[in-house]
Parts: sequence; C-alpha cells; structure tokens
Amino acid sequence: MKYYKVVTYGCQMNEHESEKLCGILENLNLIKTDDDSLADVIVFNTCTIRENAERRAYGNIGALKKLKRDNKEKIIAVGGCLPQQSGKAEDLKEKFPFIDIIFGTHNLSEFESILKKRLDTGKKLIEISRDEYKMPCSVPVKRSTYPSAYVNVMYGCNNFCTYCIVPYVRGRERSRTPEEIVIEVENLIKNGYKEITLLGQNVDSYGKDLSPKVDFSDLLKMVARIEGKFRLRFMSNHPKDVNLKLAQTIRDNDKICNCIHFPVQSGSTEVLALMNRRYTRKEYLDKIKMLRRTVKDIAITTDIMVGFPRESEKNFKDSLTLLNKVKYDGAFTFVYSKRSGTKAYEMDGHIDEEVKKQRIVKLVALQNKINKKLAKKYVGKTVEVLVDEFNEDCGYYMGRDERGKAIHFSSKTDVVGQFLDVKITKADGISIYGEIV
Ligand code: SF4
Repeated sequence: MKYYKVVTYGCQMNEHESEKLCGILENLNLIKTDDDSLADVIVFNTCTIRENAERRAYGNIGALKKLKRDNKEKIIAVGGCLPQQSGKAEDLKEKFPFIDIIFGTHNLSEFESILKKRLDTGKKLIEISRDEYKMPCSVPVKRSTYPSAYVNVMYGCNNFCTYCIVPYVRGRERSRTPEEIVIEVENLIKNGYKEITLLGQNVDSYGKDLSPKVDFSDLLKMVARIEGKFRLRFMSNHPKDVNLKLAQTIRDNDKICNCIHFPVQSGSTEVLALMNRRYTRKEYLDKIKMLRRTVKDIAITTDIMVGFPRESEKNFKDSLTLLNKVKYDGAFTFVYSKRSGTKAYEMDGHIDEEVKKQRIVKLVALQNKINKKLAKKYVGKTVEVLVDEFNEDCGYYMGRDERGKAIHFSSKTDVVGQFLDVKITKADGISIYGEIV
C-alpha cells in the first residue's frame, strides 16, 4: 500500500477527525492523494447533521463501485457519524456490499488496528462500538489547516435539541483536562501555528464533568497565558449557557478574538421551544445586548434554519425580524431536513418543500443585504490579518481579521502564515479587498 485518500463531510469537528485519520494513515507510511484510482485506501469520514452531507456521502461511495470491481485490493472504509447511527451500518452494507470496513465515531482511535485486521484476515469488517466513546486524544494528527489548528476540548453533547443527531452518535459530554489541552496548544505554537480554535459541540459545558471544577472561561484564560503571538478562537457556544464571565474573558484577553458564534436556530420563541433550545427570543436578544455591551465591536455570527416542523408564516417572519435586528456579521442559513432517530422526525406538521424553498430564498437575500452593508463599513479601516492562503483562481491572498472577516489582497512574496496590516480599499458585494500597509 502506498497511497490514501480521506473524504470529509460536515463540520469542523469532522474536519479535525479527518486530520486524525490522515495522521494514522501517514504513520503507516501511506502518502496522501486526491486521485481515487491511485489511492490504495479510501476513507469516507461521514456526517449526518445535514441530509445533504449524507446524500453526498452515499453518492460518492456508490461512484467507487467500478473502481473496486477493477481493483479488488483497494480498501474502501466508511466511518464517522453515519454508520454510528442505529441501523445505518447495515444499510450501508446492503447498498454497497463492496465496502471493506465500516466503523463508527466511537472507533476512530482504533482505526489502525481495524485496518490491519482487514489486511490480515481479508474479511470485511463492521466495527461499531456502542460503549463509552474513547476520546481520540493520543491519535497522531496530520494537520491541513496551517497557520490555524483545531484542538478538541470536549466531545459529545447533553442538550438533545430535537432536530439534532449528535447526542445519539457522539454520546454524552466528556472534557479533556486543561493540562492536556494547554500542552497540545503549547506544542502547536512552538511548531509555528498562529491561530488555535478550541472545539466542542457546546464549549460552554466544558469542565462540568471534571474535578477539580473548571469552566470554559477558566480554560480560555489558561490557554491565553501561553507565550507567543497567536489568536484564540472557539466554537460552538450554546446561547442558554453563554454568560457575563465568558464575555469579560474575551474582553480582558488580547489573544482571544473579539468574535463569537452564537447559533440562534430560529427567531421564534414557539419554534425554539419545539427545538428544545431552552431560551426564548427575548433571552437570546438580552445576551446579544450583554455581549455587545461588554466586548467592544464583537463580531457575532449565527446558524439559523427555516422549515422546522410547525413553523408558521408568523414564526418565519420572527426569524427575518431577528436577522434585521441583530445584523449578524455572518449567518449559516439552512433548510431543516428530517434526521431519523431525532424527536423532530416524529413530529407532525412537517413543512412543504416548496414553502421551505421560498423561505430560505428570503432569508438568504436578507442576510446578503446585511453582509453587503457591513462589508462597506470596512472600507478605509486598517486591520491586522492572519494570512490563510493564496487563492490561485482569483490571484489574491486571503487572510482574516480577528473578527473573522475574510480580506483579499495582493503580495509579490509568499505571506501565508504572517500577521500583516491591511488597509481596506474596496468592498465588492460581500467580498472585501485591501492593500498591505
Ligand atoms: S447543542 Fe443541540 S445542536 Fe448542538 S450538538 Fe448539542 S444537540 Fe446538537
């Protein structure tokens, strides 16, 4: 075996777990490729949060049937949240009998031994553990996001939002110790990383299972004390748990970026109750006020969906008015899709697909309008960006300021990984352009 490919679907959590799968495969001396026909091992790291990600995974796996028929030695593995979900491993096996390995999120840390077992025995394997999820902390990581790096601070979720499959496939909340996290971040900074994103399904629950007690703000302060110039970000937060202590911690520590992802999901108190989000529209808006009052110029982004079961026209309008009121710095907008195994799946009052389409078009149009206005406000400012990449298609470098805004500019030398001051000269729609000063 020489080459491998890992295909990722879904969120940052999944992206980071793919880096761990890459680390395991490179430890076995395999080399990364994007070429399906060249790869000796192809791993699909699936996600079930959105129907779209699941559909794409099924399509991509199906497309390998011919390659596998022509090269029986090729190993095809499917892991992640999809097979972890009850009944899905059997479904995958039936639909795609050519898959060699099916493994769950709970089995990621054992992937090396699972692969070896498949090679030694020649037998197809299904490895789905229903036991307590083993945190894959000691697994080697092949990072692909320089100059930024993800660091898991906790796994799982206890919240049971009615549309979400995460608590069923990733289990209950478990936190890593602050000492372990600090050591991982120290090593990343020593190795030249400039931006750390602390990851958890709900970082505000961090530490509830640890003794002695420590909370997420305490952890942020400990990480921010690490020497060196770097930025600290985190996600995701749950509005019910965000508090003044967190806002003050952001305000008082220069390394912590002035931004927060604050997923509202709906602007309607009625729909929020159906979603089991455990906050009302008013409580959410009060926390927005608290964040803006405490942290000067904080950037706030959100997730918001349309078409949740029983969402009336009035409930949908509440989401529009909320967007207009808050004026988010960015919003991930999406259409509710049924996830079997969740409470919302069983609810009555599912919304017609055509109505969902009309609602998402209106929601996206409104957020675009807000984005354009906010982009214009940047013109004339000078901001410090951390340069992420050179985009060959448009010929610009792209960096982000501490508020997370993407800024494009030219440079004659390679500046990826550098902090630079950039003066904003133009806002073209939602895209922002500048010049190095
Ligand atoms: S907080 Fe809600 S949406 Fe987020 S992972 Fe937990 S159950 Fe899912």
